[in-house]
Order: sequence, then structure tokens, then C-alpha cells
Amino acid sequence: MYRILIGECKQETSSFNPRPTFYEDFAVEFGDAVLAHHRRVRNEVGGALHLFDARPDVALVPAFSARAITSGGAVTASAFDRMLREFTDSVRAAPRPDGVYLSLHGAMVAESEDDTEGRILLEIRKILGEQVPIVVSLDLHGILTARMLELSDAIAVYHTYPHVDFVQTGERAARLLLKLLDRQARPVTARVRIPALVRGDELITETGLFGRSIRHAQRVENGPQGLSAAMFIGNPFTDVPDLASNAVVVTDDAPERASREALQMAAGFWEVRAELHANLTSLEESVRLAMETGGHVVLTDAADATSSGAPGDSNAILRALVEAGCTRTLLAPIVDAPAVRAAFAAGVGREISVRVGGSIDPRFQPLPLRATVRMLSDGRCPSESDGAIWNAGDTAVLESGPVTLVVTSRPVHLYDRSLFLAHGQDPARFGIVVVKSPHCQPQFFAARANLLVNVDAPGATSANLRSLGHRRCARPVFPLDEDVTFEPRVTLFQRNPW
Ligand SMILES: [Zn+2]
Repeated sequence: MYRILIGECKQETSSFNPRPTFYEDFAVEFGDAVLAHHRRVRNEVGGALHLFDARPDVALVPAFSARAITSGGAVTASAFDRMLREFTDSVRAAPRPDGVYLSLHGAMVAESEDDTEGRILLEIRKILGEQVPIVVSLDLHGILTARMLELSDAIAVYHTYPHVDFVQTGERAARLLLKLLDRQARPVTARVRIPALVRGDELITETGLFGRSIRHAQRVENGPQGLSAAMFIGNPFTDVPDLASNAVVVTDDAPERASREALQMAAGFWEVRAELHANLTSLEESVRLAMETGGHVVLTDAADATSSGAPGDSNAILRALVEAGCTRTLLAPIVDAPAVRAAFAAGVGREISVRVGGSIDPRFQPLPLRATVRMLSDGRCPSESDGAIWNAGDTAVLESGPVTLVVTSRPVHLYDRSLFLAHGQDPARFGIVVVKSPHCQPQFFAARANLLVNVDAPGATSANLRSLGHRRCARPVFPLDEDVTFEPRVTLFQRNPW
């Protein structure tokens, strides 16, 4: 009988979001509640459970799960300390496992710890020792560190962007762990660090250039002696010393093969790096296009994408349209807790003087508006993507001339229409809609648009990477620096196998 311990701790950090992430921004579960949650949703742990459940010789030891409600700023030191303590306490309290599966993100940073995933692994190793196999699943936006590879036995990583293979990644991680427990594999990992940061539509794995790197990884993973392979692109907004892209190949005791393939994957990625960038339109030009084009126009504000870790309080596009005297109807989301409080204090149907935007990020100056309060809600939005309930906190719909704002107290995902629809606003009925997401998915917005513009607005998750002001990541790195050279070097990792 194999006892398999299951643990999870996930958040994606944008270092350029000034609002930190608190313990209360996580959904935290212990013991059997971890399984109950993951049997309901389609994610990595759920995928792993498919395989574990199919084995009569596996007993599950659910320990701990903490999942950030949305991406955001760095996790506070006290929140990370508390989660680490709760995680390790639950590992200590659990029966001693034969193997461990951890679902981590890779780009979670705490104020006190740049490499939270490595730290979690370190603390778990201290309790369980060196012999227990640990397999980790990660997001391809993860910031891979040597410590993560030294302390785990193998990793499995997403192969899709936008991410749709949560379940499959969990299944791959579980399959790997079972192979280790059955003593059918001796994983050796080759890693090649690539000094490049990328962003933009070419990363969409189904249609973009980055898909080639992913398909290469999949061929290696499914090829002779392949156990796992991945292209990490890092998260360009997570400004930590290890920030970079990485090619990783895990083989079954075939270090040369792992090295050769990782080098090839890295070379292929480096070759196309300059094309893996967003085509952005200046704010001024975007406003002109939105005002001149008839029909439905989508302005994508990837710089304030809450799902990428931005605070959601940018009014840059709103301000530019208002100041340009735009008379077309406009729908936009914005996070602004003080404005929501003012609307609640006034009540539905009342007119208020309010300042919107810039309540979190000092890049933005609050914009004064006279607005009518059209709707007040508790901000619970049934997600049209996955059916979960997203919680935007108290929310107000404000109308100011042609402008309709859905103003929330806290950030919520904005890559689909859930927030708008929950508040009675069909974006297709507006002349212009602001979408705060890195990509505009056809089924939600793009298919209805006469014109779609990727706006070069300022913000914590701007695809204009040079605008962000990185201070801590290793330099030189493309595209922040000129004439970056790449000298490929393989590092091999192998834990003392049984
Ligand atoms: Zn990701």
C-alpha cells in the first residue's frame, strides 16, 4: 500500500502591484476538505486524483491546500509564515507518506521569500527526509529555481496557454509519482536557463509561435526515456533574481538525452524570442481608433489584467476617452473600494461626485466624475468560464453620461464577461468595452468586435516589459537590455534514487 500525501499552495505574483496579498486572499483547506474541493473542480489535484483513485494500492493523505482567489501583489510575510506553518503542521500530523504530490504555481513571491515554492519543498523535506519521492506540478509561468529541482524528484508542467490542461498536468504528475513508487523510473532532470522574457499573442500555444516549443516538449516527454518536458516562460511581472525562461527535460536515467533535448528546446525558443512580443497601440492612437470606428470596439488593457496580478484600478483608458470628449457608449471594470463605499452610502438612483481609479496604484490619478448609482451588489459573480462563484466584494454600477463603470471592492478575474453579466451589462451593447485581460478570447469578446486594439497603457502587468521598471531580476535579459547573448549551459539534477 502506498500512502500519498497531497498538498497545494498557489498564487501568481506581480511585483509591480503595490497591494500585497493577505492570508484572507486565499481559500485554505485542511485534510479531507482538500479532497472534497478537488473532486468538484477540474484542476491539477483533481487530475492526480483520477490516477490515484484508480489504484487500489494507494491511500490518500490530504494535508493542506491554499489557493489565491486571484493573482496579485507579493504575499505578506505574515501570510506566508502562517501558510507555511499550517502546511508543515499538517504534514507532521499526517501518517508518514511513501510519496508526495504537490500542486504549486512557481511564481508566488512573499515579502520575506523570493522562492516560496523552493522554501515549501525545503520545509517538507526537513520533516519527511531525503528518501520520500516528491513530484511537483507547476505553471509554465513559474520562476524555476535550482532549489526547486534539487528538492523535488521530478516536475510536470502545463503545456497550454491560455491554460486549459490543469487536469492533464495533474494526471502527468501523478503518473510520474506512481512510476517512482513502483520503482519503474529513475528521473534525471536537465535544465537550461534562457535570459529572455516574453509576452503577447504569439504565446497562445494553439495559434502562436510558442506552440512549437511546447510541441517539442511534448514530443520529448512522450519519446524514448521521456518522463516530462517543459518550456517555462517565467512570469515577466515577478521581479525576482531567478526570473528567466527555462527549458526542462526529465528522462528516465538518460542524462545525455535530457541534456541534448533541453539544449535544443532552449535554442529553438531563443531563436524566436524577438517575435514573442505583443503588438501594442499607443493610448492616443487607441482612443482615436475607438472614437472613429463604428460598431463594437474592444480595447484590451493587458497592463491592468487582474488574472496576471495587476490591481485592476487603472483608469488610464477611461481617462483618455473622457478627456478626448468621447461620446460613444463605454463599459469598463475598475477596482475602487472607496468609490464603492460612496455609492453604497448614497444608494441606488442617487447622483454622486466620486473619484475613480488610482486607489491602489499611484501610477494612476483618481478621475473626478458625476455619476448615478444604477446598481449595488455583493459582487458575487457566477463564472461563465467554470461555473465557480467569483467574489468581487461590494460592487456598484455607476453611470456617467455615456460611461458605465462596474466598480468592485476587490479584484476578480476579467478574462470573460462574468462580472459584466452578473451586473446586467452585456458588453456587446456598448460602442466600446475595456477588457482587462492579457488576451481577448473570441468566445467572450473578440468574435463580436469590429475592432480589437491591444492598448499600450501603463500598469503592473504591461506587455511593454521595459515600462515596468524591473530592479531585481538577473541582467542582462532580453528585452530589457540590448545585445543580450545566450551561452547555453545544462545543469543536471538527480536525487539519490532508491
Ligand atoms: Zn500561468
